[in-house]
Amino acid sequence: MAHWQKSLISAALLLVMLVFGYRQTLAPEVRSDSDLDYSALKQHVAVIAEKPHPMGSAANRENRDYIVAYFESLGLETEVQKTTVVYRHPTRQNHATVIGNVENIIARLPGRSGGGADGANDLVLMGHYDSKPLTPGAGDDASTTAAIMETARIMAAGPAPSHDVIFLITDGEERGLLGAQGFFRQHPAAKHVGLVLNFEARGSYGASNMFETSRDNAWLIDGLIESTPDLLASSLSYEIYRRMPNDTDMSISKGEGIPGLNFAFVAGLFDYHAMTDSVENLDVNTLAHQANYVLATTQYFASLDDWQSAKGEPTYFNLWRGTLVSYSQGLAVVFGLLVLLLGVWLFASALRAGTVAWGSTGTGVLGVFIIFLMIFSLFETLIAYQQKADAGIMRLTSLGEWPFLAYFMTTLGFTLWFANRLKQGLNKVDIFVPTLVLVLLNLLAGRDSAIAFVPPLLLIPLKVIVSKRISRPDLWTAAIWIWGLLTVLVLYFATNASYIFVWPLASVLLGIAVQRSLPGTNGGATRFVSLLVFSFIPLLLLPPIYILFYLALGLGLPQVLMILCALSLLLIWPLIRSIGSGTDGKAGLLIFIAGLVMTVVVVFGRGFDTRHPRGEELFYAIDVDQQKGFWVSSDARPGSWLDEFMGDGATSANITRIMPGYDQDVLIRESALPVYKAATLTVDSDHLSNGTREISMHLQTTTTGEYINLLFPTDAGITAAAVNGFPVRVDGSPQTGSSESTTPPTESWWRWRWYGLPEEGADIVIKLEAGRPLPVKIVEVSYGMPGGAPARPVNSMSKPYSWSDSTVIFQTIMLE
Ligand SMILES: [Zn+2]
Repeated sequence: MAHWQKSLISAALLLVMLVFGYRQTLAPEVRSDSDLDYSALKQHVAVIAEKPHPMGSAANRENRDYIVAYFESLGLETEVQKTTVVYRHPTRQNHATVIGNVENIIARLPGRSGGGADGANDLVLMGHYDSKPLTPGAGDDASTTAAIMETARIMAAGPAPSHDVIFLITDGEERGLLGAQGFFRQHPAAKHVGLVLNFEARGSYGASNMFETSRDNAWLIDGLIESTPDLLASSLSYEIYRRMPNDTDMSISKGEGIPGLNFAFVAGLFDYHAMTDSVENLDVNTLAHQANYVLATTQYFASLDDWQSAKGEPTYFNLWRGTLVSYSQGLAVVFGLLVLLLGVWLFASALRAGTVAWGSTGTGVLGVFIIFLMIFSLFETLIAYQQKADAGIMRLTSLGEWPFLAYFMTTLGFTLWFANRLKQGLNKVDIFVPTLVLVLLNLLAGRDSAIAFVPPLLLIPLKVIVSKRISRPDLWTAAIWIWGLLTVLVLYFATNASYIFVWPLASVLLGIAVQRSLPGTNGGATRFVSLLVFSFIPLLLLPPIYILFYLALGLGLPQVLMILCALSLLLIWPLIRSIGSGTDGKAGLLIFIAGLVMTVVVVFGRGFDTRHPRGEELFYAIDVDQQKGFWVSSDARPGSWLDEFMGDGATSANITRIMPGYDQDVLIRESALPVYKAATLTVDSDHLSNGTREISMHLQTTTTGEYINLLFPTDAGITAAAVNGFPVRVDGSPQTGSSESTTPPTESWWRWRWYGLPEEGADIVIKLEAGRPLPVKIVEVSYGMPGGAPARPVNSMSKPYSWSDSTVIFQTIMLE
């Protein structure tokens, strides 16, 4: 075969498999064989996500009434559970104190066994109806609410299932899983729940994935495979997710020991919790995909008589969307060990035959590490620059998967090119110039930590060693060794994730075994074809995982992901090498340069526009103590509309100057105080008992759609607290690790965040050491600003996770 033919065919295979992998991460075309009414689905989303509807807001109450009326129209027994919840995470301590007055929507479809039967026989289908404050929340989680409404309609019209189905639409998920805590810890129906299906969203498009299960999930996985169309699921995502700090409502039911399955779509992170998470931007295929999951899983498990039929935790993964493979964990260990044995045997016999050698493999390992270090350093510098740059990585998120493609091309080209340099023997230019370039890039990116310069400088001694070695580096054998070692580690620490290492390795090793048995002389074309075949499994399994990894968590970690990509390319090195066949490394250099150009375009290219507006913060602060009002922004760049609006009278300051207890650099301008009504904290009783001062108070506010922060000094000597009779944990430590990144409080204050305070207010009891005064700071946030707020340009939106577009009223109440 001619070089160009090999080049072309290898490049085409890589490209086709990348595109195929990418398409796996997208939602499939809308199914026509479903009972779902897609236009009704979209209509529900349009109503619920018309505007932001955070817990406690008027918009959320309207949505509550809309959903309740719908369930009632289906003839379902429907209730609104109103209760007070004091946040408690099932496993993690030291979260901020969060209190919420939630309103959960609960509708019941009785099963054949009769409602409220003993034992844990009921199925809960769960989603949340509240949104974050500055987003319409079409994907998150109106999509699920709509799907649950549609599922209820279809199931209420059909035959009764064997199990009771509880349609649970929670409130206050966004404020710390508050509704789920109210239901699973307080509602009498919770103790009869035997299975939870939870649906979530973290973006606006892409296929929905089943990413989390409870323990002993074999029966759940069997059921999923049996029931769910176009299914995407993997035991890898479960292994990753359970090591992460992320939460959904299912964390609560799982914490209560209830089995469950958890689904979400994650592509389109830009829209997550942003004003752009609107019905117009929600992909119709994604909405349909998620809704079909909701319907299929609920119908299936509600009719399945024998829950918990299989024990154990299997390995499961997609060959492609809709086709899932599953086998037991024990078998996963057997497969892993067999493949490792095959590898050792092949290596040993190759040693005897003289086709591999320890020396060249060792030099190869050094060579692979040199490639890793260069890729790591390059992308780490890039992302460090990006994070410091204007608007941080928001611009990157607005580009979806494109940055991944640019980074991948850079990595592919670099690996191809530098592997060739390593084979030729490194000269002085190879040894010193890349280090100089990487150091220079670090300086340009403004990185000043010494540690940033370690990887580039480490390259010099490594390269000198490699250049002095007599044996030329065998990168392929080295990569297989490294891959094998990773297989051992993953097999040991996360067995059900090992498939992503085991099957690509098996494929490559089998390929080697087959090639060895081919006749040495006239096998040119046959050899090449066998190359294509054994590269197929890695190219089938890995690209969708890497793309999903990038979308779900790799955005800020391209350096780690690209090292994995480089290692994967080296694992199928004979195929990748064929791409540059006969070009003496020039093809690699060309791809590398093209990738770099693309990366530069990605990093510097996109500005903000109407589809991807810049998140900018502007809020109004009222200082009741001083009787002053301020416009405040942490985002006013010189020359911007915000800068113009703030004007010459604005000063840069730390917000703590006007709001003691908070800490952030902002631009502030004083302005005439508008009419306002602040929350009241009235003392009902204040007395001493057994040397302890006990204060009973009533907190009330007239603002709506708000939340309230109460701040107490951490050294006030508070020994006990309760709200509406529910105890609040007092540990005296400063509040850190909040689930919400609004303006951080300084450490000397113990902060309560209170959501959805009802009109009638709430009762608070505080006990503290006698003879101590108690200053209480109240910070109220209500959405909307006083008159005089400027209109935003079309390429600007409220900044997610901020006090943007709100009026913040703060006051100090001294309880002497
Ligand atoms: Zn959500």
